[in-house]
Amino acid sequence: MALSRVDASTDAARVGALLSDITRELPAVRLLTDPADREAYRLDETAYLSAGLPGAVAFPASTADVAGLLRLASAHGVPVVPRGAGTGLSGGAAGIEGALTIVLTRLDRILEIDRDNLCVITQPGVINAVLKAAVAKEGLFYPPDPASYETCSIGGNLGTNAGGLCCVKYGQTRDWVLGLEVVLADGTVIRTGGRTVKDTAGYSLTHLFVGSQGTLAIITEATLRLRPLPGPRSTLLAFFATLGAAGEAVAAMTRSGLVPVTLELLDHETILAVDDAHKLGLDREAAAMLLVESDAPGLAAGAELDAAETAILASGATSVVRAADATEADWLRQARRLALRALELKGMVRMEDVGVPRSRVPELLAGIERITAAHGVRCATFGHAGDGNLHPNFIFDRGDPEAERLTEVVRDEIFRVALDLGGTVTAEHGIGSARRAWLPIQRGEGAVAVMRSIKAALDPLGILNPGRVI
Ligand SMILES: Cc1cc2nc3c(=O)[nH]c(=O)nc-3n(C[C@H](O)[C@H](O)[C@H](O)COP(=O)(O)OP(=O)(O)OC[C@H]3O[C@@H](n4cnc5c(N)ncnc54)[C@H](O)[C@@H]3O)c2cc1C
Repeated sequence: MALSRVDASTDAARVGALLSDITRELPAVRLLTDPADREAYRLDETAYLSAGLPGAVAFPASTADVAGLLRLASAHGVPVVPRGAGTGLSGGAAGIEGALTIVLTRLDRILEIDRDNLCVITQPGVINAVLKAAVAKEGLFYPPDPASYETCSIGGNLGTNAGGLCCVKYGQTRDWVLGLEVVLADGTVIRTGGRTVKDTAGYSLTHLFVGSQGTLAIITEATLRLRPLPGPRSTLLAFFATLGAAGEAVAAMTRSGLVPVTLELLDHETILAVDDAHKLGLDREAAAMLLVESDAPGLAAGAELDAAETAILASGATSVVRAADATEADWLRQARRLALRALELKGMVRMEDVGVPRSRVPELLAGIERITAAHGVRCATFGHAGDGNLHPNFIFDRGDPEAERLTEVVRDEIFRVALDLGGTVTAEHGIGSARRAWLPIQRGEGAVAVMRSIKAALDPLGILNPGRVI
């Protein structure tokens, strides 16, 4: 049967025919067809975006199920949205009107922890924190730790090339992937790598699929690198009278060669929100705060924090305190992880995700302050400053169309500043549907044309997450 490329929306008849084929050929696949049930799969965590209502939601439990679903979706020309836990911040897993959303959460088994080769083989529906805990029991460590690690899935982490709080030392999700099993749009299953640490056979398809946001294939299994579990962390908090001084401290630490496991920044508005929510006794007068952690072994942790403190004080910190013990350190890190939730208690939040070379963090912070003040937009900035990755969060009243329009203008100005500083419009959340217009601006038409060719080669009908990324 010859098929033309599919549109982002599809008609009820095609979905109806697809559903009867799924029911007949894949009876074990759980399906949601009731509109009230499907509604729960309309949005991811980008509540400020509008999204379509899926025509149906499928829950496969095996690679064979996923392959069958994609084969049938291709045959009927119905678009597919791959979805993990739905915590994404770019609209990548949000619904497309009338499309089939495929939720991977039932592929939730850790298949093997291979101690001899320091790797773990897992299905994509496993929650990041569950994987971390399982390998920790064996004395092993899977570093990638998005702040959402207790709720997001490994498949979503792979789909977005997720970052997190310890990238500054350990890198992003992509750095920990040895191989994948993926299902292509037509239902073909391929493997891209395995347990070998070094492998240069052919193009690196593994790295192509990681971060492709469900537009090139569905990941059904991953082989992830591990390392020995480090010891408990030592933690330092520094407070500053200006945001600029905190930015200078970040740049100074990088310049002096320090690689702490965590280097996070919270601005005044975020400090207040986190302290209101968790009553931590933070310095509520401070314009900014840095959270610095070391997981270096033994006395090296103290030495690393001493060196960080020297750089911080030279940059003009008003106070520096150290966590009394591991429990206090865990509390502080958890409070940082919950910063977005704390801000959401203040209003509707639109989170952005810009990144710049680390030496340019002070200029990015200055740009964010200048632009949001000029437009009178309420903004709370926090993020992984040690990676040069900051999240300006625009806070506005739900349903205020003028505020929503204004955040779009402010966001575009901040994106321009980030690009002028040699940075990116998204460091870890992905282009998704939220930032699509900026991909050619950042990468250039030539690079986007290459991406389109890859997409056309792997998904000629365009059924995989159409309208996302490119
Ligand atoms: C409070 C909070 C804190 C956060 N902190 C961070 C952070 O520190 N760092 C960070 O990077 N992100 C962060 N995020 C964003 C989000 O948690 C991550 O992007 C995460 O990786 C998404 O995982 P998920 O399982 O929810 O994926 P989803 O949102 O369901 O999907 C994300 C993308 O991956 C694709 N996808 C999902 N599963 C598959 C699969 N099996 N195969 C192919 N494609 C797939 C989807 O199509 C979509 O494009 C945060 C979100 C929240 C709400």
